[in-house]
Amino acid sequence: MARQRATLTVLRSAPLNEHLIRVHFTSEDFRPSEFSDSYVKFIFDREGGEVLRTYTIRSVDPATGEIAVDFVHHGDEGIGGPWAATVAPGATIDVYGPGGAYSPRPDADWHLLAGDEAALPAIAAGLEAMPATAVGLAFVEVAGPADELDLVKPEGVELIWLHRGERPAGELLAEAVRSASWRAGQVQVFIHGEAQAVMHDMRRYIRRERRVPAEWASSISGYWRRGRTEEGFRTWKAELADAETVPVAG
Ligand SMILES: Cc1cc2nc3c(=O)[nH]c(=O)nc-3n(C[C@H](O)[C@H](O)[C@H](O)COP(=O)(O)OP(=O)(O)OC[C@H]3O[C@@H](n4cnc5c(N)ncnc54)[C@H](O)[C@@H]3O)c2cc1C
Repeated sequence: MARQRATLTVLRSAPLNEHLIRVHFTSEDFRPSEFSDSYVKFIFDREGGEVLRTYTIRSVDPATGEIAVDFVHHGDEGIGGPWAATVAPGATIDVYGPGGAYSPRPDADWHLLAGDEAALPAIAAGLEAMPATAVGLAFVEVAGPADELDLVKPEGVELIWLHRGERPAGELLAEAVRSASWRAGQVQVFIHGEAQAVMHDMRRYIRRERRVPAEWASSISGYWRRGRTEEGFRTWKAELADAETVPVAG
């Protein structure tokens, strides 16, 4: 991700439901990206240096330049979630970015999207960016019925909400992806959420069993890891990448 730095000023914040908080920002120097999964790294100053937390740019209002970010409030633990829950208008925070790589391709025959609350902003932005004629399936796993949001989407994309209840994050989503009815033609895949479920269950299924070529399935990754902070998650990803590297003989 480009190391561009910008300052965001909080305009207002409001809960969308029990687990998601939308914060609106203004900025003089933030430059939006064209990708629908555009994300930034919020910079929190802590003893020992900068602590980074990654969030999707849910939207940028073309008229006012207002930036919206949806934060999962997953309890008192962590930095990003609790910050969003208590931040007041006028507060400033710097970000690195934006990065991003996915936008719905107009030449895809159909789209498969799947994710949890953390990926919901990117899924919502992706659905909004699709042409009205787009078709496909979008699975979103949330805690319960009260967490569903009204999303703008093409009529031909079926939106399926999954209610996790007491089950571990990602389990239900992985089951839904595996039992999805596969359509004819070239699929473009976008799957993000709890890392273990995404990387072990869903990526393998899409790439190996469904044989979706890499260029159509490049956006499959974990957004967070159960029981790990974002720093711990980065270490886990590096270890996983090492473990998956096949040694070259000779
Ligand atoms: C490209 C990208 C885009 C992302 N976009 C968004 C976004 O738009 N909105 C968003 O909320 N998140 C998003 N995330 C995920 C977010 O970066 C992580 O959830 C991050 O760990 C949150 O930081 P924190 O300080 O709240 O918690 P941390 O300090 O990182 O973690 C503290 C504890 O909370 C747990 N935890 C962390 N996230 C969650 C969660 N979502 N649900 C349940 N438990 C959790 C951890 O396992 C850990 O035990 C994105 C991640 C990536 C890589």
